Amino acid sequence: CGIFGVIGVVDAANFVALGLHALQHRGQEAGGIVSHDAEQGFQSARRFGYVRDNFTSQKIMETLPGPLAIGHVRYSTAGSKGQTAIRDVQPFFGEFAMGGAAIAHNGNITNANALRRELIERGSIFQSSSDSECIIHLMARSLQRTIPERMEDALRRVEGAFSVVAMTRTKLIGVRDPLGVRPLVLGRVADGWALSSETCALDIIGAEFIREIKPGEMVVITEKGVESHFPFRPQKPRFCIFEHVYFSRPDSILGGRSVYETREAIGRELAKEAPVDADLVCPVPDSGTPAAIGFSLESGIPYAMGIIRNQYMGRTFIEPTEQIRNMGVRLKLNVNRALIKGKRVILVDDSVVRGTTSRKIKEMILDAGAAEVHFRIASPPTAWPCFYGVDTPQREKLLAATMSEEEMREHLQVDSLRFISLDGLYRAVGEAKGRNAKQPQYCDACFSGEYPVKPSDQIESGFEM
Ligand code: 5GP
Ligand code: SF4
Ligand code: MG
Repeated sequence: CGIFGVIGVVDAANFVALGLHALQHRGQEAGGIVSHDAEQGFQSARRFGYVRDNFTSQKIMETLPGPLAIGHVRYSTAGSKGQTAIRDVQPFFGEFAMGGAAIAHNGNITNANALRRELIERGSIFQSSSDSECIIHLMARSLQRTIPERMEDALRRVEGAFSVVAMTRTKLIGVRDPLGVRPLVLGRVADGWALSSETCALDIIGAEFIREIKPGEMVVITEKGVESHFPFRPQKPRFCIFEHVYFSRPDSILGGRSVYETREAIGRELAKEAPVDADLVCPVPDSGTPAAIGFSLESGIPYAMGIIRNQYMGRTFIEPTEQIRNMGVRLKLNVNRALIKGKRVILVDDSVVRGTTSRKIKEMILDAGAAEVHFRIASPPTAWPCFYGVDTPQREKLLAATMSEEEMREHLQVDSLRFISLDGLYRAVGEAKGRNAKQPQYCDACFSGEYPVKPSDQIESGFEM
């Protein structure tokens, strides 16, 4: 998901709508904005679909007045069952002592089931099936006085990955979990401030990127400025390495590095680790593009747009059912036949999850008369589900959970298939010595199976680590 908040500007909701539009790649299912205005109090609008289709008309933006607003773009993750209901769309708003608060959450709470049971037993009335709603109830029940203190209290009970943007009547609050699994950045916009999942959304509103919120940090922002707290027991950070590979936008800055440059470095690393003689390097657009450029630069094999993407489709992976997903690839991608015929082609993609994309693309490329097809993947095999906010299917559906690299190659019927090594990926994101096996510098659970936070809810429902 994507989260965004602004304080101290006229009609903050307009800025939030733009910010969410720039974060649309983080979630396309639904979006919502809550604003606060001295006269009208809290106002909220939550809708299914794209930001551009919902939060552009004057009619709706007029209903979200005030100098303070937060927003959320959603895609459902591990905990969610079936289709999203509108009541699951964030931000969540709750009125309780001290005037209430609204929150937008990116990540996934791994002890949400246990918390929910406990809260319901003690009388909380849940409105949604979302794990994030726990935070609001924990805040409402806290015995602390101020809302930031209540929030600290609440978040100390929460396990898992959370970047949160919240607002009271007068404050904008941002928090990252102690491991800093999901991103969150601070920006300056005119006389106000912005919080965003990624820097690309600061750019769209002309905000200056100030800094990342640190793992375990809470910032409380008012007209007077930014106050910083560290409410959690300090831990070694474990940022999601997959943000570098796929999730973040290539024009964002993560950990002081351009995501684009990191992806290009991944491609270079891949070319060194798994070279192959061929005529063309083609990306699976758009997610494979920077890595394909890096692969081509390193190998000297010409880069070509062998597959063309229809810009008017969303990301295939987001489509809910297998049937739609199967069609999705063809609706979205087409082979550039004239270029491919008779050629030995290297296809570069960011990841193989179910293998649906790769299988369809291989078919299309062979139909178009390619002489050979070689897959090069910019992440290690995805063998484990993510429980921290990226939607991966159950373990059984992951190709790499049951097959070796060679078995996957056979299954996909391609001439060769190679994934970047975990160490190679660490080198490409800037860790010169690779992965520190004793204390990994990132979360890489979907590749390694080493979960930095115990996925308690999942274990309770039968998941075996
Ligand atoms: P597959 O078709 O193998 O199931 O999925 C791989 C494709 O899904 C890749 O092209 C990748 O770009 C795309 N994708 C979209 N969203 C996600 C996501 O959240 N996780 C992963 N691993 N891949 C995703
Ligand atoms: Fe990121 Fe993978 Fe860890 Fe999930 S499991 S947070 S996708 S590295
Ligand atoms: Mg892709």
